[in-house]
This record gives sequence, C-alpha cells and structure tokens, in this order.
Amino acid sequence: MIKQTRFGEFGGVFAPETLMASLEELEQAWRHLRADAKFQARLQNLLHTYAGRPTPLTLAERLSDEHGFELWLKREDLLHTGAHKLNNALGQCLLAKEIGKTRILAETGAGQHGVATATACAKLGLECVVYMGAVDAKRQKPNVGRMELMGARVEVVEHGQRTLKDAINEAMRAWVSDPAAHYVLGSALGPHPFPSMVAEFHEVIGKEARAQILQQANGLPDVAIACVGGGSNAIGLFRGFMQDDSVEMVGVEAGGEGMEEGKHAARFSGGKPGVLHGCYTWLLQDADGQILPTHSVSAGLDYPAVGPEHAELQKRGRARYEYATDDEALHAFAQLSEKEGILPALESSHAVAWVLQNATALRGKRLIVNLSGRGDKDLATIFSLRDAEANS
Ligand SMILES: *Cc1c(COP(=O)(O)O)cnc(C)c1O
Repeated sequence: MIKQTRFGEFGGVFAPETLMASLEELEQAWRHLRADAKFQARLQNLLHTYAGRPTPLTLAERLSDEHGFELWLKREDLLHTGAHKLNNALGQCLLAKEIGKTRILAETGAGQHGVATATACAKLGLECVVYMGAVDAKRQKPNVGRMELMGARVEVVEHGQRTLKDAINEAMRAWVSDPAAHYVLGSALGPHPFPSMVAEFHEVIGKEARAQILQQANGLPDVAIACVGGGSNAIGLFRGFMQDDSVEMVGVEAGGEGMEEGKHAARFSGGKPGVLHGCYTWLLQDADGQILPTHSVSAGLDYPAVGPEHAELQKRGRARYEYATDDEALHAFAQLSEKEGILPALESSHAVAWVLQNATALRGKRLIVNLSGRGDKDLATIFSLRDAEANS
C-alpha cells in the first residue's frame, strides 16, 4: 500500500491501474534501499570515484565585482556527462539492479537524461532503451549518437508534438507492457514515488553546496537560485537550505518568447493546477484541461508541468518562481562565457539571467546559483542564432 504520496495537496499517484503494481514494487524497493547502508555506500562510491563528486563551488569574481553582489556557482556542469542528471540516473539504475531488473527504460527531451541513463547502464551492465520524440532526435542528433555508442537503443516517438511529453507517454506505455523493466524517470515529477525519490538522489547537490559555502564564504547565502524544468536540479539545491529560514529560494522557469500562450514554459506565471503524467501540479493547459504547447530555447526547460514539491513550496511561500526569457538567458550565457570562462547550459543560463535582471536589488547579497550543466550541447543552437543575427 502506497502512503504519503503528496506534498500538501500536490503530487499523488494519478496512474492507470496497469501501472500500479510496478509503482508499488518501486516504492517498496526504494523505501527499503534508501535506509540500507550498503546501498548508500555503493552509491556514494560511484558518485565519488566515477561521477566526480563533490563538484566544486566557484566564486564568479568578475561578475560579482561588476555588480556588487557575491555570486557563487555550484558546478554541476563538471559532473560526468556534463549535467546534474547523472546523480539520479546512477541512483535509479543501481536501485533497479539491486532488485534484479536487467532492462532500463527512459525518456529524454534534449537527450541529457538519455545520455546519463545510457551511461549508468553501461557502467552497471544493464540493457537500456531510450524513448525520444522525433523532433528532439533530429535537433539533438549528437546525443542520439552518444547514447548509441554506449550501447543504448533509441526509440524515436512519432506521436503528438513529438517532444519530451510524448516521449514520457511512450516510455510509460512501454513500462506497462514490460513490468520486468525499470523506468528511470528523468526529473522530480510524475507519480509517487518518483518526485520524492528523484529529489533524494539530487539532495547531494544542496548538502555539498551548504557545507562548501559555509567553509569558503564563511556563511550561508542570502538567496539560492536554480532553473526549473521538471525541477530536479532546483529541488536538489533547495533541500540543502530548506531548514535555513534566512535563505530565500528562487526557481527560474523558461519565459521563452514572452507570456503569450504557447510561447513559454512558465507554469507558475501562465498555468494552473491540473493532472499530467500521474501527478497533480501546476501545468500549462487550456480551459478544457488540454495540455498547451510550450517553447524555450533550452530543451531541458521545455515541459508543460512542474514537479509537485515546487508547487507546494510556492503555495506555502517557502520558494518563489520567476522566469527569464530566451533573450535574457542568451545574454546571461554570453556574460558567463566572457567574464568567467564558463560556457553554461542554456537551462542554467536562466538562473544566471534572473540574477543579472535583479542585479541592483541583489547588491551586497551572497548568492548561490546551481549551474546545472555545461553548454557544449547547446553550441549548435548558439551558433545558428548568432549566424541568423549576423545575416539579418
Ligand atoms: C534537464 C536539465 C535541466 C532541467 O531539469 P530539472 O529537472 O528541472 O533540473 C536543467 N539543466 C540542465 C543542464 C539539464 O540537462
């Protein structure tokens, strides 16, 4: 029997009957293993000797001097495979192996979660099938190649908008007909136990960050900031500071091309609560509850729903959720590249963009931004925008 499936009124298990047995099996395994010292030691060892944890905390000195704040960057861009996603992929794949699963299913949007899962499967000797929308498979071709090189099979999804939402639908469908497999969901969303379990696998970000900033800056930050797609890197950072009442938390969503319907993925600014992919949370939907199309220059933030724990943090005012537009994120990308020598992921650039937008109000404050990933995967996008601008 599944218990405590919600964050306040949000979350839950709005899943078809055919998936319930798999979800209950997963919840039981997770409840057992999260308290199992041997499992935790194995995971810690992988994170330390394979993934590259702890990741450093870097002071962005030039940007800080220019704006009069103190900006610290938690460097998840330096984790193996270039983003925070490996924390969760390793955790879930290790769990799956522990309970005797030999095949892993996963969805991917931009391909980062697919790459992280293919990586974990290669390392742990598991079969890997990744569902990816046809539109994404085309625009993120190098990541399709990366997954295949590590032995994963990429299943291209031709339904719906043919992006992330449709890939999740297809992966869930595949799981229903293949209960001997484990489905590695890529963010802190979906039906219980995924939002809690994924958040726990990313808590290491916030725990490290808190210890590092206390040591390196001699105090807590005033504000902790992270971009929010499904919400996994943000919840990983936030959980480290949840008990510190003085630390403000800001999640930054994709403002895309502005607040017009279909042009953004800012769920808290443009949406309302509803059910998608097994969970009750804030979503972008029309008056009939049909899911609206979304847009963001960063594929990782381009999703119509947000993880339920964020919905609850927003409701009780513990965190607030703002957005940055494509243009603001691209400006932040350029600033961090030119002034700090770090090419950030376009997702992470949204968090930096919020800091730059609010630079005056943030003067004198100590800030920590979760730099969720590196920008190498986005270079084709950056170059084509730059060429388009040069030709216009
Ligand atoms: C996938 C991704 C995100 C968005 O996912 P969350 O679950 O919201 O963290 C953010 N940054 C990078 C680099 C990503 O790859």
